[in-house]
Amino acid sequence: MGNSRAQADLDRLLILIGPPGAGKGTQAKRLVERYHIPQLATGDMLRAARAAGTELGKRVAAVMDAGKLVSDEIVIALIEERLRNPSTRMGVIFDGFPRTVKQAQALGELLSDLGRCIDRVVMVMVPDDEVVHRNVGRRMCESCQRTYHLEFSPPKARGLCDACGGKLVQRPDDAEEKVRARLEAYHRDTSPVVDFYDARRLVCRVDGRGALDEVFGRLVAAIESTCE
Ligand code: AMP
Repeated sequence: MGNSRAQADLDRLLILIGPPGAGKGTQAKRLVERYHIPQLATGDMLRAARAAGTELGKRVAAVMDAGKLVSDEIVIALIEERLRNPSTRMGVIFDGFPRTVKQAQALGELLSDLGRCIDRVVMVMVPDDEVVHRNVGRRMCESCQRTYHLEFSPPKARGLCDACGGKLVQRPDDAEEKVRARLEAYHRDTSPVVDFYDARRLVCRVDGRGALDEVFGRLVAAIESTCE
């Protein structure tokens, strides 16, 4: 018992689920600092592939810009490669993955192959109208990917990144009609993922509204509690 707990402490596998713009990316970065485990954000990985102009990046560009989901095979392959890398052996914060039941099943099979299992799924809840407002006002640094919000967390100098001075741009998929398409994909494809993990009693629901620190406190409490 003591040993298995010690083992679990060394391998923390967390999943953050929530609508686009729920703050998963921002909160995941804070969780990285707290738990010293890497964030695996499939959206960031796909954007990096595009920025690098790889074959994969070219294949997914149009689908991403339309606010649709890229194929399960592509994201599962990306995750598998990272999970087999030693940098993720102490645990991982999954952000934006799994987004479909097929991805959740594939992750389960992969983890069972590796003798590992999910510790906790935290669902960050934000109402639809707030999701739209948050995404449409979001800006991202072209150079370092840091994110801002025109109203909630504006940069010091208009249009420029505080950290590196890079130009702030709107992600093509943050245009309002694309946000609505992403929200629809979330309700259609990702809500069943929550049911999938609910059936395994792994889900903790957290209110994603309010100040960043408040939401972070709720996340940590959810991760460290038994949730029941
Ligand atoms: P995100 O940064 O998580 O909002 O992801 C941006 C876009 O990348 C999504 O709208 C999808 O086109 C694609 N994407 C990211 N993660 C996944 C995933 N797990 N499954 C399918 N598509 C994804």
